[in-house]
Amino acid sequence: MSTFQDLGLNDNLLQAITDLGFTKPSEVQEKAIPILLESETDLVALAQTGTGKTAAFGFPMLEKIDIDSRTTQGLILSPTRELCLQITNEMKLYGKYCKGLNVVAVYGGSSITDQARDIKRGAQIIVATPGRMKDMIKRRLVDISKIQYSVLDEADEMLNMGFKEDITDILSHTPDDKNTWLFSATMPREVATIAKKFMNNPQEITVGNKNESTSQVSHEYYLVNARDRYQALKRLSDANPDIFSVVFCRTKRDTQKVAENLIEDGYNAGALHGDLSQNQRDMVMKSFRNKQIQMLVATDVAARGIDVDDITHVINYQLPDEPEIYTHRSGRTGRAGKTGISMVIVSKSEVRKIKSIERIIKKQFEKKEIPDGADICEVQLMSLANKIHNTEINHEIDKHLTSINELFADTEKDELIKKFFSVEFTRFYNYYNKSKNLNIAEGSYDRDGGREGGRDFSRGGKNDSTRYFINVGGKDGFDWMKLKDFLKEQLGLGRDDVFKVETKESFSFFNTENEVKEKVLAHFTDFKYEGRFVNVEVSENRGGGRRSDRSGGGRRDGGNRRNDRRGGGRRDDRKGASGSRSDRRRSDGDSKPPRRSDSNDLGSSRPRRSRR
Ligand code: AMP
Repeated sequence: MSTFQDLGLNDNLLQAITDLGFTKPSEVQEKAIPILLESETDLVALAQTGTGKTAAFGFPMLEKIDIDSRTTQGLILSPTRELCLQITNEMKLYGKYCKGLNVVAVYGGSSITDQARDIKRGAQIIVATPGRMKDMIKRRLVDISKIQYSVLDEADEMLNMGFKEDITDILSHTPDDKNTWLFSATMPREVATIAKKFMNNPQEITVGNKNESTSQVSHEYYLVNARDRYQALKRLSDANPDIFSVVFCRTKRDTQKVAENLIEDGYNAGALHGDLSQNQRDMVMKSFRNKQIQMLVATDVAARGIDVDDITHVINYQLPDEPEIYTHRSGRTGRAGKTGISMVIVSKSEVRKIKSIERIIKKQFEKKEIPDGADICEVQLMSLANKIHNTEINHEIDKHLTSINELFADTEKDELIKKFFSVEFTRFYNYYNKSKNLNIAEGSYDRDGGREGGRDFSRGGKNDSTRYFINVGGKDGFDWMKLKDFLKEQLGLGRDDVFKVETKESFSFFNTENEVKEKVLAHFTDFKYEGRFVNVEVSENRGGGRRSDRSGGGRRDGGNRRNDRRGGGRRDDRKGASGSRSDRRRSDGDSKPPRRSDSNDLGSSRPRRSRR
């Protein structure tokens, strides 16, 4: 194992490394730094977030650029504002003894003129998100024609987010003889294509196996009925009283809903998604960093660039559509040498996705049981006991001790302890007493009588799905995306639960898993939308066919549909997917959990409730 001195870094950087408390190089640093210092080369590095990759490209860049020059020589592109700011801060810390160094962050949502002014002062290194960078180039606010080193950080994420064209455009303004260093957690085909297109004979390094998730992370899954998902989430949290977690949902709406429910139920939760303003997102992240928020409920996009090192759990409330995204989610925990747990709550129709993910991360999931009420009560009781045991005594109490002692003069120690603990414990006990078992057996029939759906990411299990005919189509303002949104909202289904949506002029088709067939048909019985009856029937054509024998069944008794409405259908006579809170709670199949009180937080200074 080498030291930072062995890697050949200069004294300014070594001093900063000492200040930061880095004792030895991480694997990616050990592999990348000597290559980048010793040769003028392109590099492809496969490394997860949290492996120290910023320093792996940051130290060599700082070593190689001419700090006495005001010309921009290094350009680092990163997918998100958060990551951009994080890299900028790290670069400033690494270069704190490099006198005259100016690292400027360029990202959307902040004043472009301020950023342009900072660059004009002479920025040797620019760290940018692709969208804002392209904008600045177009407005001639930046000159990157003399770049010597460019970094594409989290290249897979940038491509996932649709930045391919922006990156191509940006790089076309840089010299051909620059060196490009590409860092990516995974190597899908698109990243390999970019590497081929923009790089010249790159050296390649891999930290751990390609696509392997961080080794300090263990992976667990919990099989429950879809309707018990939220209850399962609460139990996982209650069974881990010191949890500090990111909870991933698939949509902004689910993210907001889950966070709101958790907050209402007394958990320290917060939502992070793209519908929040930048200011709101900054505040949520601040509370999360301060640990005022213990459960950060987030979408994949918003969670990119979360740079918090001590996350204990990642909870996949819903699995992502693409199994590769799981790697990014689970990489939020187990950072900087710590261990972490990535939990997945799955229903039977999703359990095959676990296999797809195992193939990608090259690790096995452990199937675990959602803890029952007695387990949770025990964990909570012992957690409370430990907190009390470790609590520093507040001597302000001393002056009241005589009165308290008088009150308890006849109480035995055991009885006193029991009474004391009961203050907190009874709440949990009453809530979890007689609570149901949420676990279901793999491969069994579920309570709705439907067979396991068995749909995986590639939607191979077509025989497990039902195809429907619906008498609305293009004429009614629906393209396939609008219809999919409309159906999902009406039926309260998740993002990929309605699929193979095909719209014709006056009718359409769609598929769902067999297990929700009854629900779909019941929902669209006597269903009226904006004054007309909408009719859904099972189609005999399973594969995605055509019904030329009819052009729109069902009755129409009004034609005043607003064509511009995106998935906005609502029924007067019943609740849609976003039904009232009380509806939602009913469907959770359980009563409201105990509100956690401040007294449960003995020994901890942080408030129980998040303040957003
Ligand atoms: P990164 O993968 O660059 O996001 O780094 C993850 C975290 O590890 C950051 O907080 C870095 O400051 C920290 N880090 C980077 N290199 C080292 C090292 N050699 N030793 C300890 N911590 C490090």
